[in-house]
Amino acid sequence: MSPSHKRTYKVNILGAGVSGLSTALALLEKKNYSVKIYATHLPSDLSIDYTSPWYVRIIELDTATFNRLAHLADTDPNAGVMYLTGHDFWDVKPKNFEDPWFKRLVKNYRHLKQEELPPGVEFGITYTTGTVNTLHVSGNGYFTYVIIYLSVHAPKYLKYLQEQILARGGTIDRATIPSLKALARAPHSTDGSKADIIINCSGLGSRNLPGVHDHQMFPTRGQIVIVKVPDSLWPKAKQFTMERYAEGSAMGTGTITYVIPRDNGEIVLGGTMEHWNYQEAASEETTKAIVKRVVATKPDLFSNATILRSCVGLRPNRRGGVRISAAVEQLDWNEGWGDSKVVVVAHNYGHAGFGYQASVGCAAKVVEQVEGCLNELDLVRASSRSMAKL
Ligand SMILES: Cc1cc2nc3c(=O)[nH]c(=O)nc-3n(C[C@H](O)[C@H](O)[C@H](O)COP(=O)(O)OP(=O)(O)OC[C@H]3O[C@@H](n4cnc5c(N)ncnc54)[C@H](O)[C@@H]3O)c2cc1C
Repeated sequence: MSPSHKRTYKVNILGAGVSGLSTALALLEKKNYSVKIYATHLPSDLSIDYTSPWYVRIIELDTATFNRLAHLADTDPNAGVMYLTGHDFWDVKPKNFEDPWFKRLVKNYRHLKQEELPPGVEFGITYTTGTVNTLHVSGNGYFTYVIIYLSVHAPKYLKYLQEQILARGGTIDRATIPSLKALARAPHSTDGSKADIIINCSGLGSRNLPGVHDHQMFPTRGQIVIVKVPDSLWPKAKQFTMERYAEGSAMGTGTITYVIPRDNGEIVLGGTMEHWNYQEAASEETTKAIVKRVVATKPDLFSNATILRSCVGLRPNRRGGVRISAAVEQLDWNEGWGDSKVVVVAHNYGHAGFGYQASVGCAAKVVEQVEGCLNELDLVRASSRSMAKL
């Protein structure tokens, strides 16, 4: 039996965004972990420093996440996940366009006829999904091809994760943690006992967090607009999602026009991708431009839409991609005054514009890496205890 099965390990997690919550849930589902989350922002909060509530949709690269969310869409209306039918439009048909690999898997995949294309669009595809059991999704980075669109109402999904964590005995405290070491020093339980494992899921916070100071991290601002359509149009609008690429635009740069209905009657219109822009206030000009592009693409649904609000979020981007790691480390509690402690230090952050679609897969990966450190943790701790007795 591996040491990981012998006892319960105490884990302190920093961050209650989709990364921290998914990591907590992945640990709690394994049963031999006790989990405490510390975070400045919790589900239900809205802040420019908390990216997860702004999330719009899953475009899945990660089958593990997708399968979990698809299952929730089928079984739990409280999770805020639902199915949609996808349309991808290109203002200019990509040179040497090849049908995406998933063509053979989906139902009703076809190229749109000329008369079905919105004005100014040269080329488009559409497809519908099969049942949950047949779903597979992938993408190729730039133009992400999607078998099925799953819309996640982010605030609702975060609350759902929070409830799952609490129901499994996890705890969540609102607190701002000043450094990575402070996360290890923070009490794990009410008896004051400390964590064996700390996991940093602080998103963009990792840029300035002492002990991490990851200067590969940078913000990619996204502005979106939330609208409602007249009630008579909602039955049609809730089935419709699209993504429209202007010539030369692609994920990661400039603008991308998209429409994503949520399960609560709101519709998200997007959007922007602005690297290094921290501006919190929504720009009225950008809002108008987003709405104009969407109305031009789908006037029958959106000409009479009512704007409810505009929102801004910062994608926690990272040069070099997401950081998922775990290692056994010796931390000095008191800044070098002895009383050091050996813990597993793990990270799961830097998910840019795919934090949701990767959340279950990344949580599983970081947990796997943590588990790979447990033998070493136990050995190092046992040997320090024997040394202490000498
Ligand atoms: C407009 C927009 C559209 C997007 N669209 C998509 C999409 O289509 N698909 C997709 O998958 N993703 C999308 N994303 C990206 C997705 O929202 C993020 O990748 C994801 O939310 C990041 O989650 P996180 O948990 O890593 O970070 P966050 O949600 O930012 O959470 C960080 C947590 O750490 C806490 N924290 C940080 N520092 C400290 C500290 N020192 N002490 C205590 N707590 C701290 C915060 O309070 C918070 O709880 C989009 C983002 C935006 C803005």
